[in-house]
Amino acid sequence: MPEFDFDLFVIGAGSGGVRASRVAAGHGAKVGIAEEYRVGGTCIIRGCVPKKLLVYGAHFAEDLRDARRFGWTVPEFDFDWATLRDNVLADVDRLNKAYESTLSTHKVEVIHERGTISGPNSVSLSSGRTVTAKVILVATGAWPRIPEVEGAEHGITSNEVFRLDRLPKRVVIAGGGYIANEFAGIFHEFGVHVTIANRSDTILREYDESVRDRLLQISMAKGINFRFNARFERIEKSGDGTICVRIKEGDPITCDLLIFAVGRVPNTANLGLESAGVETDDKRAIVVDEYSKTTCESIYAVGDVTNRLQLTPIAIREGHAFADTVFGATPRRVDYACIPTAVFSHPPLASVGMTEAQARDKVGNIRVYMSDFRAMKNVLANRNERTLYKMIVDATTDKVVGLHMIGPDAPEILQASAIAVKAGLTKRDFDATAALHPTMAEELVLMR
Ligand code: FAD
Repeated sequence: MPEFDFDLFVIGAGSGGVRASRVAAGHGAKVGIAEEYRVGGTCIIRGCVPKKLLVYGAHFAEDLRDARRFGWTVPEFDFDWATLRDNVLADVDRLNKAYESTLSTHKVEVIHERGTISGPNSVSLSSGRTVTAKVILVATGAWPRIPEVEGAEHGITSNEVFRLDRLPKRVVIAGGGYIANEFAGIFHEFGVHVTIANRSDTILREYDESVRDRLLQISMAKGINFRFNARFERIEKSGDGTICVRIKEGDPITCDLLIFAVGRVPNTANLGLESAGVETDDKRAIVVDEYSKTTCESIYAVGDVTNRLQLTPIAIREGHAFADTVFGATPRRVDYACIPTAVFSHPPLASVGMTEAQARDKVGNIRVYMSDFRAMKNVLANRNERTLYKMIVDATTDKVVGLHMIGPDAPEILQASAIAVKAGLTKRDFDATAALHPTMAEELVLMR
């Protein structure tokens, strides 16, 4: 009789949990996984993937208008939310099945139940069954934060937004981070009147000031409203469904839909962590070492639940490194330096390395290069939207330590150039590369 039911039992079949399960199984481990909702997790079911499909859908509003300037006869066009929503949800179903089949191909036993830790080597399932495992991996992700304000139940979160019955006429999005700005762009392109209501006076505060200011200018010029220093006092809903968001020190905002996009809290509540001595920090995130081991020898944690960087590729890398370390006899740590990120706003922005402010602080002696131009396509389309590329260089070593962009296809361009920044290439290396003409990306090698 084996000592445990499983070599590895994973709680949560999202980006991190699925990768860890299949890699550990590939190393020969007997693996089980509990999922309380749908295999695929936030990214596939109600995050990156459906969001990006909505971004593509929204962008047609501009493309169809611009097409006329390129000679196309585009009759009056209209948008049908239900068609896009249902097509997106169908694709989510397809991916959910693909993830399920990956797990079954790797002989991972999927248990569609909520799991909670009941000891260093045991997990209780909602059916009442208990399973034991030599190693447990917590990969339960994070959950949208709902602010503590009277009437908060009248708002929704990104969890619900993909399934709306119909589009609202007016939406208020609380928050100033990437999810708030992405949904502001999406709804605006669909013809919804959008207001971003943010507690502070900046959006996207972790991004370089120049690119976030540019996004703010462009968004305002497009007609997205911003209310800064907007602290919610109370939310009221009237009989006809109208929502009134009362703001301390400011006029109330009336809307038909209120979305909270004010951060995500690690999913650690009622998880039984105390039964195994697994510690959490002041943000309720599981504390782990560089190999993702928690304060309990037999329990590890990866992804959003550890609140290191709440991004899909990071959860995947952490899950993979964990499985190689514990089941593949190859200790591996995740390298968190120079991780590229993007905001799929309209237009999108993307960034890798230090912002100008961070570089001034940490490096001191820096050179800053900027290219501020109108993309060729925007010129012909009469679209007065300027693109901005900004490069931060360590003046002593000539290394490029930061790259920030806003403009068409910025995330696609930045993913490729992030390799150069990660590799520690110098401004001279960029200059030595011939331009690929005519592109927007050629600006990267032409900055003087
Ligand atoms: P998750 O993918 O959240 O998986 C956790 C799983 O655990 C879930 O399926 C959940 O149901 C399950 N679970 C929780 N508790 C239990 C339990 N007790 N028992 C059983 N199952 C449980 N990241 C990007 O990199 N790029 C993007 O463009 C991007 N866009 C996003 C857009 C939105 C709207 C949101 C919300 C997130 C976005 N993210 C994006 C973040 C990304 O989705 C997460 O970083 C990623 O999914 C984290 O993976 P994870 O494995 O840690 O957790």
